[in-house]
Amino acid sequence: MGAFMQSAANLVMPIPGLIDPVPVPRAVTPRADGRTDLLGLSRPQIKAVLEEAGLDVKAAKLRAKQLFHWLYHRGETDFDAMTDLAKPMRGWMAERFVVGRPEVVEAQVSNDGTRKWLLRSDDGQDYEMVFIPDADRGTLCVSSQVGCTLNCRFCHTGTMRLVRNLTPGEIVGQVMLARDALGEWPKGNMGSGIAVLDDEDEDAPQYSPDGRMLTNIVMMGMGEPLYNFEHVRDALKVVMDGDGLALSRRRITLSTSGVIPMMARASEEIGVNLAVSLHAVTKEVRDELVPLNKKYGIEELLQACADYPKASNARRITFEYVMIRDKNDSDEDARELVRLLRKYKLPAKVNLIPFNPWPGSDYECSTPDRIRAFSSIVFEGGISAPVRTPRGRDIMAACGQLKSASEKKSRAELDRLAAEKQAALG
Ligand code: SAH
Ligand code: SF4
Repeated sequence: MGAFMQSAANLVMPIPGLIDPVPVPRAVTPRADGRTDLLGLSRPQIKAVLEEAGLDVKAAKLRAKQLFHWLYHRGETDFDAMTDLAKPMRGWMAERFVVGRPEVVEAQVSNDGTRKWLLRSDDGQDYEMVFIPDADRGTLCVSSQVGCTLNCRFCHTGTMRLVRNLTPGEIVGQVMLARDALGEWPKGNMGSGIAVLDDEDEDAPQYSPDGRMLTNIVMMGMGEPLYNFEHVRDALKVVMDGDGLALSRRRITLSTSGVIPMMARASEEIGVNLAVSLHAVTKEVRDELVPLNKKYGIEELLQACADYPKASNARRITFEYVMIRDKNDSDEDARELVRLLRKYKLPAKVNLIPFNPWPGSDYECSTPDRIRAFSSIVFEGGISAPVRTPRGRDIMAACGQLKSASEKKSRAELDRLAAEKQAALG
């Protein structure tokens, strides 16, 4: 095991708690066959593992470029199919590396076409991703953590006891898996277009990019992405790389409950669209709904939005506002929302999300009439405020309904399972 993998094995992931960061170690389960999974690695990281495995600098650089293209542009997982690598090189790779995918525990399809996947990490933790097809786009809702430390009162994910940051591989892996499932990797024999060393497959069909179903990504699954900043950034960089998945940053949205100190960095280092989970306009109500508000208040949050350098009229900040009956849905709340967004001169739009119930939730959804009235007041204030149609409610795939089945197991049970798995691997 080289230095790169050593450091991964010793990884202690900082998980910020509600007030102070609490480090939570990630149990790294080594592969039984000793090979290294390349999924989620950037080009320089692939180059580094190739050098560790014995290639010289120049060869490692070329192979890293080829592998990056095969992994992320073509979605290839089989080294044998990488036709611009010479045969012996393919065998050499396959002995040392794999290109993995997250394990799918369950895949469900809602009666409105929304799909939800329950995924399992190699250390036995479950997380979910959701695909929402629409007429003009297909949006993948990606998780950044197993569970969430922030405990928003209306969110199912916030009730999970287990929390761990997802790795870049686990985050990118969701996008890869979705493209596998949607069958939309480019087909044919174009190779990476870098160096054709072995062209015996020249009869294979020519490259033909499919019409893409997966057009947008929202970091709105389980977890608070800005509490897993580095991994989310690294994963999104891979997703945005023009030689790979090549999704434009304009088609990616990161949603935060308001982790103010990380917002400027998110703009500089990731540069995607920002969505902010506002949900209330008074301290009292937001303290109840989003406890992080006790640390980072509404006015401070709106100031941080006003300072978000990537915001403009062309790229407005989305404010998410969950509509909860008799809690945050009065005409007065709507007027206060307009006043606040105007005060900070925010290029804003408001997404009104009807509250999605889950077993044991304390709240009810506002009535349709109330939501319409609220929306009109915000519209009249000059701010667009569409009402989001809930999607995938029947399979518990809608906003705030994600909570993985592994929760049904106790911590002790999970520790025992992990120990057993470890023992089985010798
Ligand atoms: N942690 C991040 C991103 C994940 S949550 C955040 O909070 O922004 C994605 C969106 O779903 C957030 O706006 C969240 O407030 C909303 N949400 C959570 N629970 C919900 C529920 N029960 N009904 C409707 N929306 C909910
Ligand atoms: Fe975490 Fe977002 Fe749910 Fe709050 S709404 S508990 S920040 S996932």
